[in-house]
Amino acid sequence: MSRATEKTRTGMYENVMHEFNKAADKMNLDPGVREILATTQNEIIVHFPVKMDDGSVKVFTGYRVQHNNALGPYKGGLRYHPTVDIDAAKALATWMTWKTALAGLPYGGGKGGIQIDPKEYSDSELERITRRFTYALGENIGPDYDIPAPDVNTNAQIMAWIADTYASSKAPAVRFKNLHVVTGKPVFSGGLEGRDRATGFGVVTSIKKWAESNGVDLKGKKYIVQGFGNVGYWAAHFMHETGAKLIAVQDHSGTIFNTDGIDPESLAAHSKENQNSINAYSQAEKIKDEDFFGLDCDIVIPAALGNQITVDNAQHIKAQLIAEGANGPTDSAAEEILLEKGITIIPDILCNSGGVIGSYFEWLQNKRAEIWKIDEVLSQLEDKILTAYDKVEKTAKKYETDYRTAAYIVALERIERVYKERGVFP
Ligand code: GLU
Repeated sequence: MSRATEKTRTGMYENVMHEFNKAADKMNLDPGVREILATTQNEIIVHFPVKMDDGSVKVFTGYRVQHNNALGPYKGGLRYHPTVDIDAAKALATWMTWKTALAGLPYGGGKGGIQIDPKEYSDSELERITRRFTYALGENIGPDYDIPAPDVNTNAQIMAWIADTYASSKAPAVRFKNLHVVTGKPVFSGGLEGRDRATGFGVVTSIKKWAESNGVDLKGKKYIVQGFGNVGYWAAHFMHETGAKLIAVQDHSGTIFNTDGIDPESLAAHSKENQNSINAYSQAEKIKDEDFFGLDCDIVIPAALGNQITVDNAQHIKAQLIAEGANGPTDSAAEEILLEKGITIIPDILCNSGGVIGSYFEWLQNKRAEIWKIDEVLSQLEDKILTAYDKVEKTAKKYETDYRTAAYIVALERIERVYKERGVFP
């Protein structure tokens, strides 16, 4: 997995633009709207000092890119990873605009993060890094302007620090008007019950819908998962309920395989005890990383980083379905090969949209001072994913195109319509 990391840095924005241009050509997108959407609106880079545990001072660099806010406030995660740079943030912010538009949410797209490996820092250093980053971003984020959320290597605790830092910089009387500056907070700090599993739940909802539409019985079907963080684990958890069999998992520490099946709960317990790594799990054998995508299985769920399915491994893939839990896991050249082979791809902007849909519910919960119940959250989430899936399926038929291009067309039609109704100021 780590071998593809370098490519992640250079190729993601090119992939987004390739996908965008393909859809814009197909649907004949208005040239003015095309011009607007081909550019990110704001690119914010901040450098900020942080006191380390040993008393030294280190300067960090943080990013926040705001791609478009025609439909509502910018929305999207913050990741802490060595691959974060301005190009990655631009690509990921742009994907968020399409994702929120496709899901029918009143949001635009943003994304950002810090170029660090959080494993190298203590909890107290991570807290100070997060708080100084929030302070440095200042009014570039806000509850009705730009709302960050968790992404790769960020979690509810980090969101709590962001919310607290942002709200603490406001007068005490308006503190609680600022809680929804981030979503994905811990439940007792204004978070939404079920937000933790929202992305994985959405991934499996879309796989089930694909199975239903294609007359496939998921029971006994073999699947593999790349990445065993929040998205990968919850996807495996919900896949388990369908009777499908997890036969391999890959993470930053290696690849494990068991043809009789791997129990997601037992693997999760192992990973928790081993600093979030699947390494040395006793109930599966270790195999070579490069053999992962070519394993004999029915479904592949990439749920880690971008640009993992490339020309190097696409031709070996035997699965019928790729369900993109990660953002941008399939590069454009690999996609051509997969489509040629007749493999269906449920694209990231549909497949992993459960996360941002859950965030929208959390935002509403905070704005209305409500407490939602988990059953209500999951059923409304399911409803939104199925509605989007249905639109994508119909659009794919209408334009005789693949699901990714169809998903873009649904998203772009919505944004195009808003620009046409409102016009361009002045
Ligand atoms: N980071 C997630 C994504 O890529 C969630 C974003 C959000 O909830 O705002 O979709």
